[in-house]
Amino acid sequence: MTGAIFLDRDGVICENRADYVKTWGEFEFIPEAKQAIALLSRLDVPIIVVTNQSGINRQVMTADVVDDIHRRMVQAITAAGGRIDRVLYCPHQPADNCRCRKPKAGMLHRAAAELGIDLSRSVMVGDALTDLQAGKAAGCHPFLVLTGRGFKQLLPALPALADSFTVACNLMGVAETLLQIDRAHTWPPAFAAYSVVEEVV
Ligand SMILES: [Mg+2]
Ligand SMILES: [Zn+2]
Repeated sequence: MTGAIFLDRDGVICENRADYVKTWGEFEFIPEAKQAIALLSRLDVPIIVVTNQSGINRQVMTADVVDDIHRRMVQAITAAGGRIDRVLYCPHQPADNCRCRKPKAGMLHRAAAELGIDLSRSVMVGDALTDLQAGKAAGCHPFLVLTGRGFKQLLPALPALADSFTVACNLMGVAETLLQIDRAHTWPPAFAAYSVVEEVV
């Protein structure tokens, strides 16, 4: 079974908005994110976006609009030489108590079941502690990027996850790290050898 690269969306691929990304016009790629995904696409593993979009159940935007945003996002990434193999989102609010909203690992488990992914050979990239928690709960290696909310989440993440995650300044940093590992023919990555220190910027 293959590993996979799971990517959070807001704060990793596009800029966060406190009032949700409600239209394609509000979707703003983070600098170098498309190029980073193009680099990641050289790796022979699925790239899957897993994103909490509670604005849907809060009736701030419809699922159709979110689908349209994702279609255009994937188009733009494809035009930049990258690929996204799947986009999964959770439309629920915390009170819905669903199994998919991160920090729960429902979306990762669903992708694993549908695409035949070995989660223990996978990475979860996010800008929030909840992304890292979801990744860890699924048995993936978590990466924290310092874009989006990442910088503010770094200190809370340290005691919560000890040294079991890797920090990169942005998605490009993650891509360069993973390609380096791949060039050394060690994919799936031997993450036990990683410490937070060597990737801190
Ligand atoms: Mg995020
Ligand atoms: Zn959900």
